[in-house]
Parts: sequence; C-alpha cells; structure tokens
Amino acid sequence: MEKKWISAYGTDPLYIAGPCSAETPDQLRETALAVQAKGIKLVRAGVWKPRTRPNSFEGVGVEALQWIKDIKEETGLAFAVEVANPQHVEAALKYDIDVLWLGARSTVNPFTVQEIADALEGTEKPVLVKNPINPDLALWIGAIERLAGRNIKKLGAIHRGFSAYGDSRYRNQPLWQIPIEFKQHFPDLPLLCDPSHIAGDSKYIESLSQIALDLNYDGLMIETHPNPPSAWSDAKQQVTPQQLGEIMGNLRKRDVASLHPEFMDKLSEMRHQIDQADRDILEAIHRRMELVERVGEYKREHDLAILDMDRWNDVFETRPVWGKKLSLKKSFVKDLFKLLHQASIKKQTKILNAQKEEKI
Ligand code: PEP
Ligand code: MN
Repeated sequence: MEKKWISAYGTDPLYIAGPCSAETPDQLRETALAVQAKGIKLVRAGVWKPRTRPNSFEGVGVEALQWIKDIKEETGLAFAVEVANPQHVEAALKYDIDVLWLGARSTVNPFTVQEIADALEGTEKPVLVKNPINPDLALWIGAIERLAGRNIKKLGAIHRGFSAYGDSRYRNQPLWQIPIEFKQHFPDLPLLCDPSHIAGDSKYIESLSQIALDLNYDGLMIETHPNPPSAWSDAKQQVTPQQLGEIMGNLRKRDVASLHPEFMDKLSEMRHQIDQADRDILEAIHRRMELVERVGEYKREHDLAILDMDRWNDVFETRPVWGKKLSLKKSFVKDLFKLLHQASIKKQTKILNAQKEEKI
C-alpha cells in the first residue's frame, strides 16, 4: 500500500471538497470552480446517494457523470464519487472518475465490499474506504483487506464518525480512538477525516478538522455547496466555498514534536511526570482490587450476593461529584468507574465460583 498517491492531488493536507450531491450541471460547475479557486484539486460529488429513508433524493445517477466529465475537461480538476455496487463501479470507471470511495453503509456489509472489490480488481484508481456506521474496527480493516486482496494499490481511509442513538452534539460520534487504532494497524495508509458527516452541522467543521490535523490525519473531505440551505441533501452540514476558504485559512498543520529536538527536553521531562502519575494510578487501582478481593471473600464466607445495587448506585453517584471537585468531567469519571466496577464484579464472580468448584 502506498501513501504517496495523495500528493498527486496537490494540497497538504489533502483537501477534497464539493457538494454532498451533484444536483444540476450549474450547481456542480459553480462549486467546482469556486473550490478550485481555493487551491483544491480534487472535488467530491455524490452521484448515487444512500438515503436512510425512501422517498428522499437518491442522487441524479449516471447523468451526473457526464456533467463531471464536462467539468473535468474544462477545468482539469479531478473528481471523487461514492460507489455502492458493481454497476456504480462500471459506470464510474467508464466515465474515468479519478477517485472512488465506499460509503459507511457499504463498509458495514462484507458482501457489498467484496462485490465492489471484485468489480475494481487491479484498478489504478485510488479507492477510499469510509469507516462503517457502527464502531467496529475489524469491519473497516476487513474492507481495506478485501480491496488490497484484489490488487488495488492506491488505498486510503476516511473517518466519518459512528452512529449514535439519541441526542448528542454531533450527528455521528467521532470516537477518535478507533481511527487512531486503525492508523496503528495501517501506518502507511492515508487517513482522511470527513468532519461534515461527523458534525451534521457546519458550525463544528473547523474545530473537528483541527482535531483531525492535530492527530496527524493526511487530509479532509468537506462538503461544500454554493447555497447550503437549498441543498437537496445534508443542507445543514455543508459550507459555502467562502466558508471553506476561511476554514482552510484558520487550520494549522502542526509538526509532531519528535521532528523538533529543541522541544524534546522539556517534553521528555513532562512525559516523565506523566509516567509517574500513571504508575500512581495503577498502584491505586491495585489497592482497590485487593480490597475488592477481600470483600469477595467476605461475601463468600457469609453467602452474600455479589451485586448490591444500593452500594453500586452510591458509588456511581458520588464518584462523578468527587471528580468534579477535581475538575474532572462527570461523564469521564462515570465511564472510568463503569470499567472499574466491571473488573470488580468479574473478580468477585471468580472468587464465588472458586468456592463452588471447591465444593464439587
Ligand atoms: C457522503 O459522503 O455523502 C455520504 C453519504 O457519506 P457517509 O457514507 O459517510 O454517510
Ligand atoms: Mn452527505
């Protein structure tokens, strides 16, 4: 797998911008020219749209591929399009689309991914894979493996967030730890962020993009429309070309510290202190687990149940309050204690089952 193919598309970070959907020849051309004026060389355009509910706009289809061909001839721009089945692949290749991507609803289905990989076998075109809609790292990795297995060399990944149920700030949860793990698995694969589909709202695009750049992502895919409120899909999350230019101007691409020896002394000193704090945390957890063990043994001796809801409710209510006094976020402290509680239940279950085994 090679990383350098992205440099063919000019900018660093790589920017892919363009409308969620190609709507009309004019809308597409206007967007393409406007993003080109910002220095962008690769334009996105949804031609076939995977919609959650029927009777929504499902994309213009093959007709838009001709519009793209005309704009490419006029401007020299390259285009990226989503493909979701072998027919899409065939049409996109026929119209010489430059970059193809698999959407989140395709990555989730290994049958679909395999069909697309088979249809793309041996292509020289770059193929990008969005993360699956559910937070399943293995599915994302598996999709890359299926494409690599069909001799597709120019691969890349797009982090677009993971579905969440109920109200939350973003349309999709970023769960940054998943793309970071993905990166550890494929260090040479370009990783882009799609802040538009994470955000669901144009006001968060810049801050999400900056986080992605600070995590050393290689590029950004940003939905851009000449008049977002009138867009036929994803109206709320699209930015105007002008807003895109402002975002690009504000974003900073920072170097990793190890490239700057002059900062390493101070950083090493602070990291050393963090190492010590981590040891303290582990020792405190160790002490807690020893106490849990004693409680487990006491419960075994007196034939008491492991789970005592009153006690657990008390732990779960008090710790976030204690944490807040130390400026720790309540949700973080809750998650931490859920994890500790799970470990403690596991330990006590083992102790109580050991008793059964002894009796047998
Ligand atoms: C899109 O890029 O327009 C799209 C449908 O994205 P996703 O597959 O991330 O939902
Ligand atoms: Mn979209």
